Amino acid sequence: MSRLAGKTALITGAARGIGKAFAEAYTREGAVVAIADIDLARAKIAAADIGGGAIAVKMDVSDQASIDAAVEETVAELGRIDILVNNAAIFTAAPIVEIERADFARAFDINVAGTLFTMQAVARHMVERGGGGKIINMASQAGRRGEALVAVYCATKAAVISLTQSAGLNLIEHGINVNAIAPGVVDGEHWDGVDAFFAKYEGKAPGQKKKEVGAAVPFGRMGVAEDLTGMAVFLASREADYVVAQTYNVDGGQWMS
Ligand code: NAD
Repeated sequence: MSRLAGKTALITGAARGIGKAFAEAYTREGAVVAIADIDLARAKIAAADIGGGAIAVKMDVSDQASIDAAVEETVAELGRIDILVNNAAIFTAAPIVEIERADFARAFDINVAGTLFTMQAVARHMVERGGGGKIINMASQAGRRGEALVAVYCATKAAVISLTQSAGLNLIEHGINVNAIAPGVVDGEHWDGVDAFFAKYEGKAPGQKKKEVGAAVPFGRMGVAEDLTGMAVFLASREADYVVAQTYNVDGGQWMS
C-alpha cells in the first residue's frame, strides 16, 4: 500500500464525494494530499478526517486568480505537485427549450475552463521543475453520449474527454501523463440534486430515479465512490507511465467504447 509514497497530490472538489474518496485512497498509498474546494470549511473537515498531512486549500476553479493562488499555496505547503485530479464539477439539467445562457456559461466555466486552466497552471509548475507528473480528469458516461434532459452537463463532459486527449498528446513530451476516468452513476450527495431534478421533470417520486438507474447498471447497482479509487490510484502511479490521453470507463458495464 505505498504505490504513491513520496508523492504529493492536488485534488479539486475533494471536500466530499468522489474527490474525498480519492484523497483517502491516495493518502493510504503514501501520498500527501491538498484538498482543494470552493467550500473551505468542509475541505478542512475532510483534511482532518483523512490525516496523513493532508491540507485544505480554498479554490474556485472557475476563477483564474483562485486557481493560481491554490496552486501556489499547495506548492508552498507541500513543496511540489506530482499528481493533479481535476474532479470539481457541477451538475445541471433542463429541457433544451428551458436552458438558460447563464447556467450554460457557469457549467462550462467550472467543468471545462476549470479543468483546462487548472491543468495549465499545474502543468506549468511540473514543466518548470523538470517535467514528469500525472493529471487525471473526471469525465463521465454523460460525456460519451447525449441525454434528453442533460444537454449542458453532457457537453461539458464530452469537452473534458476531448481536452484530455489534446492535453495528453501535448504534455507527454514533458513526461506528464494526462488521462481521464468516466464513471457511470455514483451514489453520493451529488445525487440529491439529480434526483430532485428528475422528480420535477419526469414526475418521479423522491428516490425513484436513483432506483431505476441503479437497476439498469449491468453490475446490478449504482457505483459508490470507492469503486473508482483503484483506477484513480493506478493512473496516478508509475504503473501508468505508458498510458497517455485515455478515458477509462468505470461504470459497472454501462458503456463499451
Ligand atoms: P459532488 O457534487 O459530491 O462534489 C463536488 C465537489 O466540488 C464539492 O465538494 C463542491 O464543493 C466542489 N465544487 C463545486 N464547484 C466548485 C468550484 N467552482 N471550485 C472548486 N470546487 C468546487 O460530486 P461527485 O458526485 O463526487 O462527482 C465528482 C466528479 O465526478 C465530478 O467531476 C462529476 O461530474 C463526476 N461524475 C460524478 C458522477 C456521479 O454520479 N456522482 C458520475 C459521473 C461523473
